[in-house]
Amino acid sequence: MPDCIFCKIIAGEIPCKKVYEDELVLAFHDINPQAPVHILIIPKRHLPGAAELAPENSAAAARCLEAAAQIAKEQGLESFRVVTNNGKGAGQTVFHLHFHLLAGRDLTLQLA
Ligand code: 5GP
Ligand code: ZN
Repeated sequence: MPDCIFCKIIAGEIPCKKVYEDELVLAFHDINPQAPVHILIIPKRHLPGAAELAPENSAAAARCLEAAAQIAKEQGLESFRVVTNNGKGAGQTVFHLHFHLLAGRDLTLQLA
């Protein structure tokens, strides 16, 4: 996916502030944080978004959520939100599946 910014981050062509990495997923700080903690967790294999999830590719998505739990534990986050936007109408701007991990402010009123 030559034009995908997240694939370029995975390939090391664009730098990121890495938080976690394993064979299936990469997590890094969002460049434009919407909360004191705003980490993106992405599968290494390109998938446009949550709408494309299927039994044959969902293991990496599950690993993204496991990574969220591990990062939250490591960072001592008792409360956090994990969200993914699918489609322009939901606010998706990067069409490589990613989960936002948000924490560090009151998240009770807003959805993201
Ligand atoms: P979306 O709007 O698609 O749900 O989320 C895309 C997110 O990617 C946004 O929060 C945006 O700030 C972040 N983002 C876009 N480009 C880059 C980048 O080059 N580096 C990092 N670290 N985050 C990015
Ligand atoms: Zn990609």
